[in-house]
Amino acid sequence: MRLRVWSGLGVVAATAILTGCNSQPDTAKVADTKADAAAKIKAIRAAKEKAAAQVKANELGQIPVLMFHRIVDKPATTDDRSPQQFRADLERLVKDGYVPITAAEMVTGKIDIPAGKHPVVLTFDDSSPSQLTLNQMGVPEKNTAVGILKEMAARHPGFRPVATFYVTRDMFGKAVREEQAQALTWLKENGFEIGNHTRDHLNLRGRPQKEVEEQIGTIAQQITALSAIKPTTIALPYGNQPSKKVWALRGKHYNHQGAFLAGYTPAPSPFSKTFEPAGIPRIKVMEKKGDCAQFCSYAWLDWLKSNPDMRYTSDGDVRTVAYPKFQAPYLRKFFAAWSLPY
Ligand SMILES: [Zn+2]
Repeated sequence: MRLRVWSGLGVVAATAILTGCNSQPDTAKVADTKADAAAKIKAIRAAKEKAAAQVKANELGQIPVLMFHRIVDKPATTDDRSPQQFRADLERLVKDGYVPITAAEMVTGKIDIPAGKHPVVLTFDDSSPSQLTLNQMGVPEKNTAVGILKEMAARHPGFRPVATFYVTRDMFGKAVREEQAQALTWLKENGFEIGNHTRDHLNLRGRPQKEVEEQIGTIAQQITALSAIKPTTIALPYGNQPSKKVWALRGKHYNHQGAFLAGYTPAPSPFSKTFEPAGIPRIKVMEKKGDCAQFCSYAWLDWLKSNPDMRYTSDGDVRTVAYPKFQAPYLRKFFAAWSLPY
């Protein structure tokens, strides 16, 4: 339908040219048209600013990047969540106006969520079967992380079932190459991100560059061979950076746009000068108990809720970076062309 309308307009324009109705250029008219166009652009921009202000958009605000490990019936450590806890974690995010994006979408600034909503990044480390187990039809088991994410999306239409899986050689418990290919391909085809978590999950702190590159590069090559994906992001085992931070980002077989840590604050917006691609903080998912009274997800989500000026809120337009004028000094220069201060 739209195509027909456009081709119709094309015919009108072509007819105008052919009949030569503008054969005598009228400079006054041209100037008018230019002024009209400028006024139109100005009006569109004013409308965008007004819309951004209405939802209090702040695309220089902070983003919670949540760190999950296993989803198991009987959590063994505070890193594990039960399926019931995980459902409750997600229900809370929906209630607080969060929409999941992947880590790759975050670090590349492709944060395409509705106006007034807040991005959240769901990350899963160590590629365990509790995150992804598929039957022979390629259907995920009900109480796995992906099964629960799909269930949430069916229950809440605005909820995007996306997440980032940081893979080691464990590969969701699959040892057979074909089964590994099935798992990674399924993730890719269902819109999930496959990230690098190193081959052997060693602590990279203090290791020589050659070993760091080997740990990251060999799993990257394996992921590419199995799924034709080149990971965009990495999560560092134990959150520890190598002696030179850049070794985690760039090596012989990899080129990452973000390296994620293990603790323990919300992350800066990728559009902010405070964003540091080589060390992006994440938040452990846990109620406000013990060590988690302040620095885990329930505490930080409470904090972001009661400090809405600190939180990333979208203007609904992926092509602009909208923020209150007061925040202008924090805009990364690279994004100046997309900026929409109000
Ligand atoms: Zn890990």
